[in-house]
Amino acid sequence: MTKKQRICIVGGGFGGLYTALRLHELPWEIEDKPEITLIDKGDRFLFSPLLYELITEEIQSWEIAPPFEEVLAHTGIIFRQGAVTNIDLDSKQVTVDNSLTVHYDKLVISTGGKTPLDKVSGALTNAIPFRSLKDAYRIIEKLRLLEDSNLDKIRVAIVGGGYSGVELACKVADRLGEKGRVRIIDRGTQILDHATDFNRKTALKALEERQIWLDLETEVAKVEAEEIDLVYKGQVDTIPVDLVLWTVGNQVSTLTEQLNLEKSDRGLLKIQNTLQVLDNDDVYALGDIAECRDEEGNILPATAQVAFQQSDYCAWNIWAQINHKPLLPFRYQALGEMMALGVDSASLSGLGLQLDGSLAYIARRLIYLYRLPTLKHQLTVGLNWITQPLVELLS
Ligand SMILES: Cc1cc2nc3c(=O)[nH]c(=O)nc-3n(C[C@H](O)[C@H](O)[C@H](O)COP(=O)(O)OP(=O)(O)OC[C@H]3O[C@@H](n4cnc5c(N)ncnc54)[C@H](O)[C@@H]3O)c2cc1C
Repeated sequence: MTKKQRICIVGGGFGGLYTALRLHELPWEIEDKPEITLIDKGDRFLFSPLLYELITEEIQSWEIAPPFEEVLAHTGIIFRQGAVTNIDLDSKQVTVDNSLTVHYDKLVISTGGKTPLDKVSGALTNAIPFRSLKDAYRIIEKLRLLEDSNLDKIRVAIVGGGYSGVELACKVADRLGEKGRVRIIDRGTQILDHATDFNRKTALKALEERQIWLDLETEVAKVEAEEIDLVYKGQVDTIPVDLVLWTVGNQVSTLTEQLNLEKSDRGLLKIQNTLQVLDNDDVYALGDIAECRDEEGNILPATAQVAFQQSDYCAWNIWAQINHKPLLPFRYQALGEMMALGVDSASLSGLGLQLDGSLAYIARRLIYLYRLPTLKHQLTVGLNWITQPLVELLS
Protein backbone atom coordinates (compact mmCIF):
# COMPACT_ATOMS: atom_id res chain seq x y z
CA MET A 1 0.00 0.00 0.00
CA THR A 2 1.39 3.39 -0.87
CA LYS A 3 -0.48 5.82 1.32
CA LYS A 4 -2.33 5.60 4.61
CA GLN A 5 -6.03 5.06 4.11
CA ARG A 6 -8.27 7.70 5.70
CA ILE A 7 -11.46 6.42 7.29
CA CYS A 8 -14.00 9.01 8.28
CA ILE A 9 -16.90 8.06 10.55
CA VAL A 10 -19.79 10.49 10.78
CA GLY A 11 -21.82 10.03 13.97
CA GLY A 12 -20.46 8.58 17.20
CA GLY A 13 -23.41 6.54 18.41
CA PHE A 14 -23.87 2.79 18.56
CA GLY A 15 -23.03 2.43 14.89
CA GLY A 16 -20.17 4.91 14.58
CA LEU A 17 -18.32 4.80 17.87
CA TYR A 18 -18.26 1.00 18.05
CA THR A 19 -17.10 0.80 14.41
CA ALA A 20 -14.23 3.14 15.27
CA LEU A 21 -13.24 1.14 18.36
CA ARG A 22 -13.46 -2.18 16.49
CA LEU A 23 -11.42 -0.80 13.58
CA HIS A 24 -8.71 0.19 16.03
CA GLU A 25 -8.57 -3.38 17.41
CA LEU A 26 -8.26 -5.15 14.06
CA PRO A 27 -4.91 -6.67 13.03
CA TRP A 28 -3.37 -3.92 10.89
CA GLU A 29 0.24 -4.02 9.78
CA ILE A 30 1.86 -1.08 11.59
CA GLU A 31 2.62 0.77 8.37
CA ASP A 32 -0.91 0.13 7.03
CA LYS A 33 -2.90 1.26 10.06
CA PRO A 34 -5.37 3.78 8.67
CA GLU A 35 -6.06 7.25 9.98
CA ILE A 36 -9.47 7.03 11.66
CA THR A 37 -11.47 10.20 12.26
CA LEU A 38 -14.72 10.18 14.21
CA ILE A 39 -16.97 13.22 13.90
CA ASP A 40 -19.91 13.91 16.17
CA LYS A 41 -21.88 17.06 16.84
CA GLY A 42 -21.82 16.31 20.54
CA ASP A 43 -18.86 15.86 22.86
CA ARG A 44 -20.04 12.58 24.35
CA PHE A 45 -21.37 9.19 23.42
CA LEU A 46 -24.83 8.31 24.73
CA PHE A 47 -25.76 4.82 25.84
CA SER A 48 -29.48 5.52 25.28
CA PRO A 49 -30.98 2.25 26.67
CA LEU A 50 -30.02 3.53 30.14
CA LEU A 51 -31.30 7.09 29.62
CA TYR A 52 -34.49 6.34 31.59
CA GLU A 53 -32.46 5.82 34.75
CA LEU A 54 -31.50 9.52 34.77
CA ILE A 55 -35.15 10.43 35.41
CA THR A 56 -35.17 8.45 38.65
CA GLU A 57 -31.56 9.34 39.48
CA GLU A 58 -30.62 5.65 39.56
CA ILE A 59 -27.70 6.47 37.30
CA GLN A 60 -25.48 9.52 36.82
CA SER A 61 -24.91 10.99 33.40
CA TRP A 62 -21.14 10.32 33.35
CA GLU A 63 -21.88 6.59 33.52
CA ILE A 64 -23.97 6.48 30.35
CA ALA A 65 -22.49 9.44 28.51
CA PRO A 66 -18.69 9.36 28.62
CA PRO A 67 -16.84 12.08 26.64
CA PHE A 68 -15.50 10.88 23.27
CA GLU A 69 -12.03 12.18 24.21
CA GLU A 70 -12.03 9.80 27.20
CA VAL A 71 -13.40 6.77 25.32
CA LEU A 72 -10.95 7.24 22.45
CA ALA A 73 -7.90 8.02 24.61
CA HIS A 74 -4.80 5.98 23.62
CA THR A 75 -6.46 4.63 20.46
CA GLY A 76 -5.00 7.11 17.99
CA ILE A 77 -8.52 7.75 16.67
CA ILE A 78 -8.95 11.44 15.90
CA PHE A 79 -12.11 12.98 17.35
CA ARG A 80 -13.61 16.11 15.83
CA GLN A 81 -16.58 17.75 17.46
CA GLY A 82 -18.91 19.44 15.02
CA ALA A 83 -21.97 18.90 12.89
CA VAL A 84 -21.30 17.48 9.47
CA THR A 85 -23.08 19.87 7.15
CA ASN A 86 -22.19 18.35 3.81
CA ILE A 87 -20.82 15.15 2.31
CA ASP A 88 -19.36 15.40 -1.18
CA LEU A 89 -19.33 11.85 -2.48
CA ASP A 90 -17.52 12.76 -5.71
CA SER A 91 -14.56 14.57 -4.18
CA LYS A 92 -14.70 12.30 -1.10
CA GLN A 93 -14.82 15.03 1.48
CA VAL A 94 -16.90 15.87 4.49
CA THR A 95 -17.58 19.41 5.67
CA VAL A 96 -17.86 20.06 9.39
CA ASP A 97 -19.74 23.14 10.64
CA ASN A 98 -19.64 24.60 7.12
CA SER A 99 -15.89 25.22 7.48
CA LEU A 100 -13.53 22.33 8.27
CA THR A 101 -12.97 19.77 5.49
CA VAL A 102 -12.09 16.14 6.18
CA HIS A 103 -10.96 13.99 3.24
CA TYR A 104 -11.65 10.28 3.24
CA ASP A 105 -10.97 7.07 1.36
CA LYS A 106 -13.67 5.15 3.23
CA LEU A 107 -16.71 6.78 4.77
CA VAL A 108 -19.07 5.46 7.44
CA ILE A 109 -22.39 7.25 7.89
CA SER A 110 -24.18 6.57 11.17
CA THR A 111 -25.96 9.75 12.16
CA GLY A 112 -28.97 8.05 13.76
CA GLY A 113 -32.52 9.32 13.83
CA LYS A 114 -34.46 12.22 15.29
CA THR A 115 -37.91 12.46 16.85
CA PRO A 116 -40.32 14.34 14.56
CA LEU A 117 -42.30 16.90 16.54
CA ASP A 118 -43.65 18.81 13.57
CA LYS A 119 -46.47 16.40 12.69
CA VAL A 120 -48.94 17.60 15.32
CA SER A 121 -49.90 21.19 16.02
CA GLY A 122 -48.15 22.61 19.09
CA ALA A 123 -45.95 19.56 19.74
CA LEU A 124 -42.75 21.36 18.76
CA THR A 125 -43.20 24.05 21.39
CA ASN A 126 -45.13 22.21 24.08
CA ALA A 127 -43.89 18.62 24.08
CA ILE A 128 -40.45 17.32 25.03
CA PRO A 129 -38.92 14.41 23.08
CA PHE A 130 -36.90 11.70 24.82
CA ARG A 131 -33.81 10.89 22.82
CA SER A 132 -30.79 12.84 24.01
CA LEU A 133 -29.08 13.80 27.22
CA LYS A 134 -30.36 17.34 26.70
CA ASP A 135 -33.95 16.03 26.46
CA ALA A 136 -33.51 14.08 29.71
CA TYR A 137 -32.15 17.20 31.47
CA ARG A 138 -35.13 19.26 30.20
CA ILE A 139 -37.57 16.68 31.52
CA ILE A 140 -35.81 16.44 34.90
CA GLU A 141 -35.82 20.23 35.21
CA LYS A 142 -39.51 20.44 34.35
CA LEU A 143 -40.37 17.63 36.80
CA ARG A 144 -38.35 19.38 39.50
CA LEU A 145 -40.31 22.62 38.96
CA LEU A 146 -43.60 20.74 39.11
CA GLU A 147 -42.53 18.86 42.24
CA ASP A 148 -41.57 22.16 43.91
CA SER A 149 -44.88 23.78 43.00
CA ASN A 150 -47.97 23.51 45.17
CA LEU A 151 -49.82 21.28 42.71
CA ASP A 152 -51.73 18.38 44.32
CA LYS A 153 -51.35 16.22 41.24
CA ILE A 154 -48.77 16.26 38.48
CA ARG A 155 -50.34 15.21 35.18
CA VAL A 156 -47.97 13.76 32.62
CA ALA A 157 -49.06 12.63 29.17
CA ILE A 158 -46.66 10.35 27.32
CA VAL A 159 -47.27 10.03 23.60
CA GLY A 160 -46.42 6.55 22.32
CA GLY A 161 -46.95 3.12 23.80
CA GLY A 162 -43.82 1.54 22.37
CA TYR A 163 -40.75 0.58 24.42
CA SER A 164 -39.71 4.20 25.04
CA GLY A 165 -43.16 5.37 26.10
CA VAL A 166 -43.78 2.47 28.47
CA GLU A 167 -40.32 2.54 30.06
CA LEU A 168 -40.44 6.30 30.48
CA ALA A 169 -43.96 6.17 31.96
CA CYS A 170 -42.88 3.68 34.65
CA LYS A 171 -39.84 5.77 35.60
CA VAL A 172 -41.82 9.04 35.70
CA ALA A 173 -44.56 7.37 37.78
CA ASP A 174 -41.98 6.02 40.24
CA ARG A 175 -40.32 9.40 40.52
CA LEU A 176 -43.58 11.27 41.16
CA GLY A 177 -45.10 8.63 43.47
CA GLU A 178 -48.53 9.52 44.95
CA LYS A 179 -48.59 12.90 43.18
CA GLY A 180 -48.18 11.45 39.70
CA ARG A 181 -51.01 11.02 37.22
CA VAL A 182 -49.36 9.44 34.21
CA ARG A 183 -51.11 8.43 31.00
CA ILE A 184 -49.87 6.81 27.80
CA ILE A 185 -51.51 7.77 24.52
CA ASP A 186 -51.22 5.44 21.53
CA ARG A 187 -53.13 5.13 18.29
CA GLY A 188 -52.85 1.30 18.29
CA THR A 189 -55.12 -1.23 19.93
CA GLN A 190 -52.40 -2.39 22.32
CA ILE A 191 -49.11 -1.18 23.75
CA LEU A 192 -45.74 -2.66 22.77
CA ASP A 193 -46.87 -3.97 19.42
CA HIS A 194 -43.48 -5.48 18.59
CA ALA A 195 -42.62 -6.87 22.02
CA THR A 196 -42.73 -10.50 23.10
CA ASP A 197 -45.93 -11.62 24.86
CA PHE A 198 -44.00 -12.06 28.09
CA ASN A 199 -42.60 -8.53 28.06
CA ARG A 200 -45.98 -7.05 27.10
CA LYS A 201 -47.74 -8.88 29.95
CA THR A 202 -45.06 -7.88 32.44
CA ALA A 203 -45.23 -4.28 31.24
CA LEU A 204 -49.04 -4.20 31.52
CA LYS A 205 -48.75 -5.40 35.10
CA ALA A 206 -46.13 -2.74 35.85
CA LEU A 207 -48.38 -0.03 34.36
CA GLU A 208 -51.37 -1.26 36.35
CA GLU A 209 -49.40 -1.32 39.62
CA ARG A 210 -48.45 2.31 39.01
CA GLN A 211 -51.99 3.24 37.96
CA ILE A 212 -50.77 4.50 34.62
CA TRP A 213 -53.75 5.25 32.41
CA LEU A 214 -53.81 3.90 28.84
CA ASP A 215 -55.52 5.85 26.04
CA LEU A 216 -55.50 3.36 23.17
CA GLU A 217 -56.86 3.91 19.65
CA THR A 218 -56.34 7.57 20.43
CA GLU A 219 -54.65 10.22 18.29
CA VAL A 220 -53.09 13.42 19.55
CA ALA A 221 -54.60 16.32 17.59
CA LYS A 222 -53.05 19.31 19.35
CA VAL A 223 -50.65 20.04 22.19
CA GLU A 224 -50.91 23.28 24.13
CA ALA A 225 -49.03 24.57 27.15
CA GLU A 226 -51.50 23.16 29.66
CA GLU A 227 -53.78 20.87 27.68
CA ILE A 228 -53.79 18.24 25.01
CA ASP A 229 -56.49 17.41 22.43
CA LEU A 230 -57.10 13.70 22.01
CA VAL A 231 -59.25 12.11 19.33
CA TYR A 232 -60.95 8.83 20.20
CA LYS A 233 -63.40 7.31 17.71
CA GLY A 234 -63.85 10.68 16.02
CA GLN A 235 -64.56 12.54 19.26
CA VAL A 236 -62.18 15.25 20.52
CA ASP A 237 -61.44 15.34 24.22
CA THR A 238 -59.38 18.16 25.76
CA ILE A 239 -57.40 17.04 28.78
CA PRO A 240 -55.42 19.23 31.19
CA VAL A 241 -51.73 18.34 31.43
CA ASP A 242 -48.62 19.64 33.18
CA LEU A 243 -46.11 17.91 30.96
CA VAL A 244 -46.25 16.20 27.56
CA LEU A 245 -43.47 13.78 26.58
CA TRP A 246 -43.15 12.64 22.97
CA THR A 247 -41.65 9.25 22.17
CA VAL A 248 -43.04 8.39 18.73
CA GLY A 249 -41.41 8.50 15.34
CA ASN A 250 -37.92 8.06 13.98
CA GLN A 251 -36.89 10.39 11.20
CA VAL A 252 -33.55 10.46 9.39
CA SER A 253 -31.31 13.49 9.77
CA THR A 254 -31.37 16.36 7.26
CA LEU A 255 -27.84 15.42 6.24
CA THR A 256 -29.02 11.97 5.11
CA GLU A 257 -31.96 13.51 3.25
CA GLN A 258 -29.54 15.64 1.22
CA LEU A 259 -27.33 12.73 0.16
CA ASN A 260 -27.56 11.68 -3.44
CA LEU A 261 -27.82 7.99 -2.55
CA GLU A 262 -30.65 5.52 -3.06
CA LYS A 263 -33.20 5.62 -0.24
CA SER A 264 -36.25 3.65 0.86
CA ASP A 265 -39.79 5.11 1.05
CA ARG A 266 -39.04 6.03 4.65
CA GLY A 267 -35.91 7.93 3.59
CA LEU A 268 -33.50 5.33 4.95
CA LEU A 269 -30.29 4.67 3.03
CA LYS A 270 -30.47 1.47 1.01
CA ILE A 271 -27.50 -0.77 1.68
CA GLN A 272 -25.98 -4.00 0.42
CA ASN A 273 -25.62 -6.94 2.80
CA THR A 274 -22.00 -5.86 3.33
CA LEU A 275 -23.37 -2.55 4.75
CA GLN A 276 -21.99 -0.61 1.76
CA VAL A 277 -24.51 1.77 0.21
CA LEU A 278 -25.78 0.97 -3.27
CA ASP A 279 -23.45 1.98 -6.13
CA ASN A 280 -20.66 3.25 -3.88
CA ASP A 281 -18.43 0.63 -2.28
CA ASP A 282 -16.39 3.19 -0.37
CA VAL A 283 -19.38 4.35 1.66
CA TYR A 284 -20.89 2.32 4.50
CA ALA A 285 -24.13 3.12 6.33
CA LEU A 286 -25.42 1.58 9.50
CA GLY A 287 -27.71 2.05 12.48
CA ASP A 288 -30.99 3.91 12.43
CA ILE A 289 -30.35 5.62 9.07
CA ALA A 290 -29.92 2.43 7.07
CA GLU A 291 -32.55 0.03 5.77
CA CYS A 292 -31.10 -3.29 6.77
CA ARG A 293 -32.71 -6.68 6.28
CA ASP A 294 -32.25 -10.04 7.91
CA GLU A 295 -31.65 -13.24 5.95
CA GLU A 296 -35.40 -13.67 5.35
CA GLY A 297 -35.62 -10.17 3.90
CA ASN A 298 -37.43 -8.61 6.87
CA ILE A 299 -36.45 -5.03 7.67
CA LEU A 300 -34.60 -4.89 10.97
CA PRO A 301 -35.79 -2.47 13.66
CA ALA A 302 -33.93 0.72 14.57
CA THR A 303 -32.26 -0.57 17.72
CA ALA A 304 -28.93 -0.33 19.46
CA GLN A 305 -28.69 -4.12 19.20
CA VAL A 306 -28.77 -3.93 15.40
CA ALA A 307 -26.36 -0.96 15.18
CA PHE A 308 -23.96 -2.60 17.64
CA GLN A 309 -23.86 -5.88 15.69
CA GLN A 310 -23.50 -3.98 12.40
CA SER A 311 -20.51 -2.05 13.76
CA ASP A 312 -18.54 -5.30 14.04
CA TYR A 313 -19.24 -6.21 10.41
CA CYS A 314 -18.69 -2.66 9.21
CA ALA A 315 -15.22 -2.49 10.79
CA TRP A 316 -14.34 -5.95 9.55
CA ASN A 317 -15.50 -5.22 6.00
CA ILE A 318 -13.53 -1.96 5.81
CA TRP A 319 -10.46 -3.88 7.01
CA ALA A 320 -11.14 -6.62 4.44
CA GLN A 321 -11.69 -4.14 1.63
CA ILE A 322 -8.42 -2.32 2.37
CA ASN A 323 -6.56 -5.63 2.70
CA HIS A 324 -8.12 -7.14 -0.47
CA LYS A 325 -9.93 -9.88 1.44
CA PRO A 326 -13.54 -11.04 0.91
CA LEU A 327 -16.21 -9.01 2.68
CA LEU A 328 -18.74 -10.64 5.02
CA PRO A 329 -22.51 -10.37 4.58
CA PHE A 330 -24.16 -8.99 7.72
CA ARG A 331 -25.99 -11.64 9.73
CA TYR A 332 -28.26 -10.36 12.47
CA GLN A 333 -28.63 -12.42 15.60
CA ALA A 334 -31.72 -11.57 17.63
CA LEU A 335 -30.57 -11.77 21.24
CA GLY A 336 -33.89 -10.88 22.85
CA GLU A 337 -35.22 -7.71 24.40
CA MET A 338 -35.12 -5.99 27.75
CA MET A 339 -37.19 -3.22 29.28
CA ALA A 340 -36.80 -1.11 32.40
CA LEU A 341 -40.10 -1.10 34.27
CA GLY A 342 -39.68 1.40 37.06
CA VAL A 343 -37.06 1.63 39.77
CA ASP A 344 -35.17 -1.65 40.39
CA SER A 345 -37.45 -3.59 38.07
CA ALA A 346 -37.27 -4.83 34.48
CA SER A 347 -38.44 -7.47 32.05
CA LEU A 348 -36.25 -9.61 29.86
CA SER A 349 -36.96 -12.25 27.28
CA GLY A 350 -34.63 -13.86 24.82
CA LEU A 351 -32.45 -16.87 24.13
CA GLY A 352 -35.03 -19.09 25.87
CA LEU A 353 -34.95 -17.00 29.04
CA GLN A 354 -37.77 -14.99 30.63
CA LEU A 355 -37.15 -12.87 33.70
CA ASP A 356 -38.98 -10.09 35.47
CA GLY A 357 -38.67 -7.98 38.62
CA SER A 358 -35.36 -7.41 40.37
CA LEU A 359 -33.68 -10.43 38.78
CA ALA A 360 -34.34 -8.99 35.32
CA TYR A 361 -33.16 -5.60 36.60
CA ILE A 362 -29.80 -7.07 37.67
CA ALA A 363 -29.40 -9.08 34.45
CA ARG A 364 -30.23 -6.01 32.35
CA ARG A 365 -27.71 -3.89 34.23
CA LEU A 366 -24.96 -6.49 33.84
CA ILE A 367 -25.65 -7.00 30.12
CA TYR A 368 -25.55 -3.25 29.53
CA LEU A 369 -22.42 -2.88 31.66
CA TYR A 370 -20.72 -5.35 29.36
CA ARG A 371 -21.91 -3.36 26.33
CA LEU A 372 -20.54 0.01 27.51
CA PRO A 373 -17.64 1.19 25.36
CA THR A 374 -14.10 0.32 26.55
CA LEU A 375 -13.06 -1.96 29.38
CA LYS A 376 -11.85 1.02 31.42
CA HIS A 377 -15.28 2.64 31.35
CA GLN A 378 -16.99 -0.68 32.13
CA LEU A 379 -14.75 -1.15 35.18
CA THR A 380 -15.22 2.40 36.46
CA VAL A 381 -19.01 2.18 36.12
CA GLY A 382 -19.16 -1.38 37.50
CA LEU A 383 -17.13 -0.35 40.55
CA ASN A 384 -19.44 2.60 41.09
CA TRP A 385 -22.50 0.33 40.94
CA ILE A 386 -20.97 -1.92 43.59
CA THR A 387 -19.76 0.85 45.90
CA GLN A 388 -22.63 3.32 45.53
CA PRO A 389 -25.15 1.33 47.65
CA LEU A 390 -22.49 1.00 50.37
CA VAL A 391 -21.78 4.75 50.31
CA GLU A 392 -25.52 5.48 50.54
CA LEU A 393 -25.88 3.02 53.42
CA LEU A 394 -23.06 4.65 55.38
CA SER A 395 -24.08 8.27 54.73
C1 LIG B 1 -34.43 6.61 25.06
C2 LIG B 1 -34.00 5.53 24.15
C3 LIG B 1 -33.92 4.23 24.61
C4 LIG B 1 -33.52 3.21 23.77
N1 LIG B 1 -33.44 1.94 24.27
C5 LIG B 1 -33.01 0.94 23.48
C6 LIG B 1 -32.87 -0.39 24.00
O1 LIG B 1 -33.20 -0.64 25.16
N2 LIG B 1 -32.40 -1.34 23.17
C7 LIG B 1 -32.05 -1.09 21.87
O2 LIG B 1 -31.60 -2.00 21.18
N3 LIG B 1 -32.20 0.15 21.33
C8 LIG B 1 -32.66 1.17 22.11
N4 LIG B 1 -32.80 2.43 21.60
C9 LIG B 1 -32.51 2.66 20.17
C10 LIG B 1 -31.02 2.91 19.98
O3 LIG B 1 -30.54 3.89 20.87
C11 LIG B 1 -30.74 3.34 18.55
O4 LIG B 1 -31.30 2.39 17.67
C12 LIG B 1 -29.22 3.41 18.32
O5 LIG B 1 -28.68 4.42 19.13
C13 LIG B 1 -28.91 3.66 16.86
O6 LIG B 1 -27.55 3.85 16.69
P1 LIG B 1 -27.00 4.88 15.59
O7 LIG B 1 -25.53 4.77 15.62
O8 LIG B 1 -27.71 4.68 14.33
O9 LIG B 1 -27.47 6.29 16.12
P2 LIG B 1 -27.17 7.04 17.48
O10 LIG B 1 -26.73 6.10 18.54
O11 LIG B 1 -28.36 7.88 17.72
O12 LIG B 1 -25.92 7.96 17.12
C14 LIG B 1 -25.98 8.94 16.15
C15 LIG B 1 -24.87 9.94 16.43
O13 LIG B 1 -24.73 10.78 15.30
C16 LIG B 1 -24.51 12.09 15.74
N5 LIG B 1 -24.93 12.99 14.65
C17 LIG B 1 -26.15 13.10 14.09
N6 LIG B 1 -26.13 13.98 13.07
C18 LIG B 1 -24.85 14.41 12.97
C19 LIG B 1 -24.18 15.32 12.11
N7 LIG B 1 -24.81 15.96 11.12
N8 LIG B 1 -22.87 15.54 12.31
C20 LIG B 1 -22.19 14.91 13.31
N9 LIG B 1 -22.78 14.03 14.14
C21 LIG B 1 -24.08 13.78 13.98
C22 LIG B 1 -25.36 12.22 17.00
O14 LIG B 1 -24.88 13.26 17.84
C23 LIG B 1 -25.17 10.84 17.63
O15 LIG B 1 -24.10 10.79 18.54
C24 LIG B 1 -33.21 3.48 22.43
C25 LIG B 1 -33.29 4.79 21.94
C26 LIG B 1 -33.68 5.80 22.80
C27 LIG B 1 -33.77 7.20 22.27
